[in-house]
Amino acid sequence: MAVSGGLRHDLHGRGQRLTPQRQRVLDLFERVGAGHHLSAEDVHLQLLRADARVSLATVYRTLRLLASMALLRELELPEGSRRFELASAELHDHHHLVCAACGRTEEFDSAQVLQAGADAAAKHGFRLLSSRLTVRGLCGACAAAV
Ligand SMILES: [Zn+2]
Ligand SMILES: [Zn+2]
Repeated sequence: MAVSGGLRHDLHGRGQRLTPQRQRVLDLFERVGAGHHLSAEDVHLQLLRADARVSLATVYRTLRLLASMALLRELELPEGSRRFELASAELHDHHHLVCAACGRTEEFDSAQVLQAGADAAAKHGFRLLSSRLTVRGLCGACAAAV
């Protein structure tokens, strides 16, 4: 089944209306694909390029809503900025390495982090939902510029 078909089904299942605005934003994330992290400004710019008249405030609202519906996943950066990526059931937990200066974001996998999360959850009697790690640093270019 196509991803968007699944999302649409989910939207109906949750009693949410799939407005053209929300669909456009979801389509954008589906086009760039999983593993891409977009800020609200990125999304806004792309929508303007596609001739959609929409304010940045509306983009923010739409992104938060889609994240609250678990269609997007929100990646909170230490500086208070946020990026969003497509939430996909097929995607295993992955982790992020974020440059604190320019926001460059790389993904990595770690069986050890997943195991540590599973161990901690088991020890304290939690049902595990996800184990995700965000590591801050300076990318090579930013570290060289300091
Ligand atoms: Zn990611
Ligand atoms: Zn950087």
